[in-house]
Amino acid sequence: MPTRHPSDALLLDYAAGSLSEGWGLAVATHLALCPACRSRVLAAEAVGGAMIDAIEPAPVAEDALAATLARIDADPDPAPRSAAPVRREASIFPEPLRSYIENGPGLAWRKLGPSAHTIIIPTGDRATTARLLRIPAGAAMPVHSHRGLELTLVLQGAFHDEGGTYARGDIEEADEEVEHQPIASPGEDCICLAVTDAPLKFRGVARLLQPFLGI
Ligand SMILES: [Zn+2]
Repeated sequence: MPTRHPSDALLLDYAAGSLSEGWGLAVATHLALCPACRSRVLAAEAVGGAMIDAIEPAPVAEDALAATLARIDADPDPAPRSAAPVRREASIFPEPLRSYIENGPGLAWRKLGPSAHTIIIPTGDRATTARLLRIPAGAAMPVHSHRGLELTLVLQGAFHDEGGTYARGDIEEADEEVEHQPIASPGEDCICLAVTDAPLKFRGVARLLQPFLGI
């Protein structure tokens, strides 16, 4: 059972449907692993529904339905992407993340720096970047801070940093205030989903490598 949860602000925005797709993917994947947060979101949705019921109905323009349908027609679903086979490793990925991987790049890990690997998870959200990270057991990521928000959800193994230890299902919310150095725990490789809305800010030598790492 996860012990590190998204903030109430994130859960409320999720329940209200106002999170953009990248953040929503991280929160929804945490929810798949966390019954406690699922209950909180259900409660928030019930409150939100009651509030909407209490609002006086507003008059709707006569052509509203036609205009909405026209917008849907003008914005067709993107063409289906080729599904690369996802191997047994996929069992660590709950929905909705699993479908994003299977309908996107598959598990095509590419090297990130000397020892880590990454896969970019395509979403329709231009405001955020979602990626899987695989950090070898015991290895350290470079010290970094943030220009925006970083949500990190652990899917396999564990890591620790200045804020504590994070294991499967745990989510870390790091903003401009946080400078940290995640270190994978020994035992097995740490695999995370990381969502950011701005490039990370590296210190020291890692900063020189940033253009090559693209993170
Ligand atoms: Zn939770």
